Amino acid sequence: MNPFSALPSLETVIAAHQLSARKNLGQHFLLDERVTDNVARYAGELSHCNVIEIGPGPGGLTRSLLKAGAKKLFVIEKDERCVAALARLKEIAGDRLEIISGDGLEINLIETVPAPRKIVANLPYNVGTAMLLAWLHAVYTHGAAAFESMTLMFQKEVAERIIAEPGCKDFGRLSVLAQWLCECHYNFELPPEAFLPPPKVSSAVITLIPRAKPLVDVSKDALEKVMAKAFGQRRKMLRQALKGLPVPADVLLEKAGIEGSLRAEQLDVVTLCNLAKVYHKLATNSGKPS
Ligand code: SAM
Repeated sequence: MNPFSALPSLETVIAAHQLSARKNLGQHFLLDERVTDNVARYAGELSHCNVIEIGPGPGGLTRSLLKAGAKKLFVIEKDERCVAALARLKEIAGDRLEIISGDGLEINLIETVPAPRKIVANLPYNVGTAMLLAWLHAVYTHGAAAFESMTLMFQKEVAERIIAEPGCKDFGRLSVLAQWLCECHYNFELPPEAFLPPPKVSSAVITLIPRAKPLVDVSKDALEKVMAKAFGQRRKMLRQALKGLPVPADVLLEKAGIEGSLRAEQLDVVTLCNLAKVYHKLATNSGKPS
């Protein structure tokens, strides 16, 4: 028997704890169990690992992750009202559920949660990208051991930027950084009506699986610096866009074997990472900050 079936409905939890949605916390709750079960399914096998959920809210996805067999689930929630609303679920889940009251942006997941770890979350949209950037940094620092996977709900537009391929309008710095470190998969979309209250835009769930090794062995600082320039004025040819780096753009492009009349969005991720690698080497050799 499913022990969670004895829980009150999420609507009842929301009413009992007066969880009127707070915009500054990006609160858009998922109440349909079929949807939250589906998100949990895309996270794959959970029985061997510690699962981290940022922003459990009233606990819909939390219930699904426990039901799906998460060995242990760590939830991090900034809103004290939601923390209180999870008390009944905690009684049933016992030691399998650890509720951390705090800011997911400030908590170091690697220090707080033992490996192996997976992240599964319907992220608050206002800080979702910042959270992903912090976790990608953890993947850069700790390698694939940081997280087995990250199954994350974003605004559709952000999800599309993360998984975008070269040549399309969404391809940019975020695509390069994410795909350099992770395999990125688009899972499914949800319309605004799937949430309470409905956001203005659609959402999408994606899964990022950290690569055993990054696609190219390059310094993250150098990659971020070169991509900021390359995509900063994305309609410009690279020989123009890369001006202002401490290495002359024409020398850099020639050494990297890239035609200066191309635009960054026309190059694939490996070529862009190699460009940053050549930049790092030239800047280091010339004693200029890379
Ligand atoms: N997981 C729930 C669901 O799917 O129904 C709620 C998702 S809602 C989009 C985002 C949740 O993140 C809210 O519960 C909100 O209070 C919480 N939150 C917002 N900012 C946060 C932060 N910096 N750290 C932790 N939780 C945060």
